[in-house]
Parts: sequence; C-alpha cells; structure tokens
Amino acid sequence: MLDWARQHMEIPSEAVILTKLREVFGYESFREEQKAIIQHVLMRKDAFVMMPTGGGKSLCYQIPALLQDGLAIVISPLIALMKDQVDQLQKLGIYATLLNSTLSAKTFKAVREDMLANKVKILYLGPETLANRDKLDFLRHVNVSFIAVDEAHCISDWGHDFRPEYRKIRQVTQEYLGRLPMIALTATATPRVQLDILRSLEITEATIFKSSFNRPNLYYEIRAKEPEPEKQLIRFIKKQPEQGAGIVYCQSRREVEHIANLLNINGIAAAPYHAALTPRVRVQNQEDFLNRKIDFIVGTIAFGMGIDKPDVRLVIHYDIPKALESYYQETGRAGRDGLPSTCLMLFSLRDIQRLERINRHNEESEKAQELLDEVNDYAFLGVCRRKQLLHYFGETYEAPCNYCDNCLETHEHYEGAHELKAVLDVVKKNPAAYRPAHIVQTLQKNIDLSQAGHTYEYLAVISQDSKEYKGHWKPIVKQALLSGFLYTDVEQGQGLQLTAKGQKFLKRSHSVKLIRNHVYTSSVASPLKIEKLEKVCDEGLLDQLQKLRADIASEKGIPPYAVMQDASLEEMTIYYPTTLEDLAQISGLSMSKATKFGLPFLQHIEAYVVEKNIMISTDVLVKAPANASRNKVYIIQHIDRKVSLEEIAASKMMSMEELIEEIEHICSAGLKLNLNYYIDTILTQDQQQEVYTYFMHAEQDDIRQAHNALGNRYEIEELRLMRVKFLSEIAN
Ligand code: ADP
Ligand code: ZN
Repeated sequence: MLDWARQHMEIPSEAVILTKLREVFGYESFREEQKAIIQHVLMRKDAFVMMPTGGGKSLCYQIPALLQDGLAIVISPLIALMKDQVDQLQKLGIYATLLNSTLSAKTFKAVREDMLANKVKILYLGPETLANRDKLDFLRHVNVSFIAVDEAHCISDWGHDFRPEYRKIRQVTQEYLGRLPMIALTATATPRVQLDILRSLEITEATIFKSSFNRPNLYYEIRAKEPEPEKQLIRFIKKQPEQGAGIVYCQSRREVEHIANLLNINGIAAAPYHAALTPRVRVQNQEDFLNRKIDFIVGTIAFGMGIDKPDVRLVIHYDIPKALESYYQETGRAGRDGLPSTCLMLFSLRDIQRLERINRHNEESEKAQELLDEVNDYAFLGVCRRKQLLHYFGETYEAPCNYCDNCLETHEHYEGAHELKAVLDVVKKNPAAYRPAHIVQTLQKNIDLSQAGHTYEYLAVISQDSKEYKGHWKPIVKQALLSGFLYTDVEQGQGLQLTAKGQKFLKRSHSVKLIRNHVYTSSVASPLKIEKLEKVCDEGLLDQLQKLRADIASEKGIPPYAVMQDASLEEMTIYYPTTLEDLAQISGLSMSKATKFGLPFLQHIEAYVVEKNIMISTDVLVKAPANASRNKVYIIQHIDRKVSLEEIAASKMMSMEELIEEIEHICSAGLKLNLNYYIDTILTQDQQQEVYTYFMHAEQDDIRQAHNALGNRYEIEELRLMRVKFLSEIAN
C-alpha cells in the first residue's frame, strides 16, 4: 500500500481496540506488548513477535483481523491447533474457518462462497494447503487484510520443528495475493532463528516485538544421572513437597513405555505419550492428564504442543534434550499458572555420546551436533542457568537469579583475568568467522607452539595447569560470551566478535572471577536397598506386627490377610518404614491402603526402632518393575475405561488366565481396580454376595479352598476376580 494511503487510513482508536478485547474476548486489559502490536498491525506494517508460549500471541492477530475490512489469513503448522482456535473463535461468535485436505467438496464450496461474499474474518491454513494454487486461486478475488504466520520458527531449520513448506510462504502468497502486510509470531527467539525468519518472509524491516523469555517461577536444576536412574527418578518425584502434575520427557518410545509403567508400579498414576500410540489412546491419555485422572505424562517430545495445562509442577528430562531450544519449550510447560515449579534434567555423558552417534547419521549432522554442544555447555557451565538460557534467546540477564542450582550451590571461582585476556586476544587477531571451538583450537595450538619456544605474550602469564588441561578453555569462551565481552555475529556467519566491553578489557584488564565447570561423577549414586531379599527380616518385630495385625483384623471384622499380607509385614521388618510415604512403597501397599491401615503399624515400628536404637535410612523405597510387563499400564487404563476383559485380553493377545494373573499382580502391588462393571455381567448380585461373604470369613485367600468350600459352584476365574474385588474394596 502507498504511504499516502497508509497515512490517510482510519486506524481504530485505543478505546475501540480495548472495547473489542473486553466485549469479544472478555479480558479486562492487554498484556505487555499486545496493544502496541495490534496497533502496529492495524497500521498495515510488518511485525515480528517473539513471546514465550502462553504469552498471548493469538490476540495479536485476531483483534486486528476483526477490526479491519476483509479476511486475515493465519498460517499455522498443526491441524489440531487450528481446529482448537477456530472452535474457540466460533464460540465467541466470530466467523473463522480452516481449509485443509480433509474438507469435503461441498463444505469447501460453501466456505469459498462465504469468503467471496466477504463474510469470513479469519482463515486458518496449513502451509501445504497454501501452496495448492488450484484450490486457492479464488483468493485473488477476496479482500485479504494481512497474513499472520504463527509458529514462525518452523521456517528456520535452526528452529525446533522445521517444515520446508514454511519457507515458501512469501513467494506463494506474493504470487496470487500480492504483497500483503505480515505478522510473524513465534515462541522461539534465538538470534539466528530470528534472522532466518525475517529473511525468508522478506520482512527484514519489520518492527520487532520481543517479550522477555524469563520464567521467574521455574526452578532449573541438572543432576548427574545415577547408575540406577529409575530409582533416582522415583525418589525425586516422591520427595517433592507436594504431589502435583508432572511431565517426564524421554528420548525413545520404548523408554516412555517403560518409565510410565515404572511410575504406575510406584503408585504415581501415569500414562505414556508418543507417536506410535493410536490417536485415540493419545487423545485419551492427554485428556486424562488434563482432567487430573492421572498425575504424570511420560512422553517423547511429541507431547505438549498446544497443551494448556496451567498447573504442571514438575518437568523432568530423564534423557538429555537434543537442543536448548526444545529444552526451553518443554520446561516451559511447567508452572503456567505462575506458581513455583521445578525443571530437572538428568545429565549423563553416555546420553550425550548416544546422541552424538545418532547425529552422525543425521543429514544435517553438523548442525545437530552444534545444537547438542550447546546443551552440553549449558549442563557443565557453573553460570546461572537462567542467565544462560536467556542469553541463548538473545536477552541479557543480571545473575544471580537465586532460583537455579548454579545460583544456590557454591562453585569454585578463580581469578581469570589473564585467561580471559588470552581468549579475547585470539578473537581480536582472528577476525574471520570464529566459533568457540575454533578459539579453543587456536589457543591450544598456540600453547603447543609456545612450549616449543614461540612467544605469545599473553600466554606467558598463564599457569601450567591451564595449559595442560584440555577442557579448560571452552568454559572461558562461554563465560566471555555470557558476560558480554564477546558476541556472536549472526549476520556474519556466527563468528565471535569483541564487544565494546571486550575491547576495553583488552586495553585495560581488571580482576575477573571465572567459575569452574561442574563435574558430573556417577559416584553420587547412593545404593538403594531394593535388593532386599538378601536381607533377613527382623523376627522379633515380625512377631509383634503379626499380633498387631490380628488385633486390627478382629476389631474390624475382616480377615488378617485383608489388613496386610504376610509378604508386606516381612518387608516392613526389613525396611522399618516410619512415614506413610515409605510405608506406601512396601510391596502390597499403596498410599490409600497405607492410610487406611498403616498408622498403628507405623507407630509400632517407630517405637521399636527407637527402643532398639536401629538406624533407618530416610531414602524413599522404590519398587522395581522386576517382572512388570508393559501390559500393566494398558490393563489399568482399560479397566478404568470399563473395557470388557475379553476385549483387553484379545487386544493384548493374552489368554483370560494370563490377564487375570496380571490383574492379581496389579492388585497385590496395592493398586485399586474397580472390576464391578465386568463382574456384574458374569455373576448375579446374590452370587457376588455369597463369594464376598466367604472371603470375608475365610482364614486364607486360597482359591482352591474357596472353590471347594463353595461347593464347586463357581468357576475358578470368577472366584479369582471376586477375590480381586474383595481385596480392592476391603484392603486397598
Ligand atoms: P500463545 O499463542 O502465545 O501460546 P495464547 O494466545 O494461546 O498464547 O494465549 C494464552 C492464554 O492467555 C490463553 O488462554 C488466552 O486466552 C490468554 N490471554 C491472552 N491474552 C490475554 C489477556 N490480555 N488477558 C487475559 N488472558 C489473556
Ligand atoms: Zn540462577
């Protein structure tokens, strides 16, 4: 549009914009830069918006779309996301729609007519549909107000989910719509992705709106992955002050299934999420998570896009993420409600090496490796995590944040003026495009040369230790970047350059405190007492606990085995649990069962331990999934959804016998299963009553005995299911 026209165009006033926000969307006021962005788009100027997920990007184009004549086109990568948005807008009474390949010819025609009649305000399109010229040619005759490119990082192969079709947006739209104002939006903001987007969309002159990416309520921590990471994981989750919702990210589908299973066995309701599950199961698991039916999702990175669950308290990277970008996005799913939340990454060199091996087969192996190096540096560097993350997104942050492990733990500092000077000197003398790794190489080469007799002034003062230790220089280069002595020149091939501060330092150096890197040793693992069977149980205590059980049973009028099973009592005399949490970890117990019957046992054990002066460990006990089959999670979930047992058995290719055996395992691990929906179909109420009463009065829960005692009138399978029902109701 001509400048003349732009100047003479009527721009809606602030009051009008605010009224739209209140009347249509029902919000009181704008957040941060929303208003400025909306005004900018209304002036038909290009804009580039970087806002963390959940920041409120959608309104930035939805309100301008409503306030202008014609139709706004929104390009978005995922059909599910578009559907959500369209649904929401339609509920608000806005004519928004989406075009994709699944639309029937009839619907398509109707929508097209509406667009030509200028009725539609917002059209969502995937980039592939956009490129379908034949289908969209009619848009030439529609008055299009502007184009919004959502999740614009997809344009850049430095972004975390690159989509080649995204690269053609400018070219394609220009062909049949002419040059329209564009607003690009993303939750990714590394300087190189930013530049890539601006160039690809040809909006290098766009005004840039960038909100801070700081998430002050998130606590960042990295720990060495212990030799028994599963136990480490469970202990970590159990030791959280409150059991809120959480997400565990793993690299492989197999690991996802395994960890979800492990959590369930340990009384943490969890479901898996990965691309190989059927869409129905995925949607169900996701909904269960949103509705708090389960507390944890264990997922591959596929989980979380577009999920709006505000109260996730814990995000754990069980495996190393492939890039800092995805780490930030994934941790960002914690604490949307602004309440304190924890982000833990388990770090292991083995994982790094595994990813390196995978990267080598990657088409873009160099790039993948560079991204991984950044994760590696982040893990090792002792500098405030928040400062590091925000620096990655091109933001300066004054550490310490006092809310990350690096700020809260003490790290070894040392006087680093000489070494910093050496690094800056190399950068200065090598104005070509240099990256951290090159700087380190050059330094090391120079050190070798100096030992062979060459003189490098700046090296003369550097300690012998620093010269010998290979890993010494990289953290210094990184710290020079983080403290603003150097910067990465994105426009010039990523080379490092001196900043004004760096130049000044070279002229007149001063004292600088540098931080030594983390050392991740695997020896931090404390051996857990899970290999219990080697330990003998405490006969004295066992005797007392059995008496206690008999008393409770007769008082409640239920059989002793329904109060506690023998195996559970024995285990208690090995571990001496003194808290409910510990008790719930004893096999055969769950939290609900521990709460129901556990208290007298705990009191008794506590007194015993004090009396005998027994040392107990405060470690959380972890149930190992020794013979746990992957089917367990599936079975629990499907019983929960009242799927018939025949169907479950068939879909898992098990016999009924095998299925019942699994169900019994689940039950004896202390999990409650509600089988009533199924039992009601095989036994009448009277029959159920009879078997129930039998178990109530039996000395033992043996099935053969029950079969005989009930005059062989019931099938073994029926009795076994009734026993599960009985134990679930009475005992768990
Ligand atoms: P993003 O696309 O940046 O991840 P959304 O546009 O989906 O974020 O917005 C995140 C949430 O914040 C949504 O629930 C949205 O309705 C809400 N929101 C956006 N702007 C405002 C506002 N000005 N006042 C209150 N809530 C808002
Ligand atoms: Zn910090």
